[in-house]
Amino acid sequence: MHQYNPAFLDGITPALANRFGGRFPNTDMIKDPRTREFCINGDTFNGWIGPDVHFLFSTIQGGKDCCWVLTHRDEHDIDESWSFPGKLEEVYKVLEGWDPICRAIVEKTPSLVDWKLVYRDPLPTWVSKHARILLLGDAAHPFLPTSAQGATQAMEDGVTIAVCLKKAGKGNVPAAVRVHQELR
Ligand SMILES: Cc1cc2nc3c(=O)[nH]c(=O)nc-3n(C[C@H](O)[C@H](O)[C@H](O)COP(=O)(O)OP(=O)(O)OC[C@H]3O[C@@H](n4cnc5c(N)ncnc54)[C@H](O)[C@@H]3O)c2cc1C
Repeated sequence: MHQYNPAFLDGITPALANRFGGRFPNTDMIKDPRTREFCINGDTFNGWIGPDVHFLFSTIQGGKDCCWVLTHRDEHDIDESWSFPGKLEEVYKVLEGWDPICRAIVEKTPSLVDWKLVYRDPLPTWVSKHARILLLGDAAHPFLPTSAQGATQAMEDGVTIAVCLKKAGKGNVPAAVRVHQELR
């Protein structure tokens, strides 16, 4: 997963899974009788789950936009990026033998991204030496997207540091920063 601050970057262990994803308008989905139903009834969410693979497809904005993610086991490594382009042929390979509707959805995708999901060692601290800099959100504690927790935890970080700063007052910023870390 992505980490933004090289100064705090710690060990990255090899990938444990790979995730492909795409987002696109519903135009071609509606033209295809196999996929039309996903876009004419407002927002939908569907998932297909098998050994070491899951394919999730949703429509948003009242069925106008479509997006999917395909997660599968993978131990190869890759440069870190949230925008590394993926290849449809690789997705088709993973979907071989699956419900053909999955491929019918994927075929409509003009471009996709390829994320490697990797474990990271926890950082020893989120606070700089003099407690003037604090890491929040993914930079402090990246979550695997399969847990769907990164954004919520980043927001909780934001609320926590806001309360700590308010309670500590302007003259006590380092204490607020340190207390935030202890609380989180
Ligand atoms: C496909 C996907 C699905 C997800 N689903 C969920 C979900 O269902 N629920 C959930 O809770 N979380 C989910 N997440 C995780 C969530 O998006 C992240 O955990 C969250 O966005 C982290 O927030 P953040 O503010 O720490 O970092 P970010 O949202 O990544 O914000 C960091 C910002 O810093 C900017 N930046 C980077 N470097 C610099 C620089 N040098 N100078 C200036 N700016 C810079 C970036 O452009 C970015 O805008 C998902 C993530 C992905 C990729």
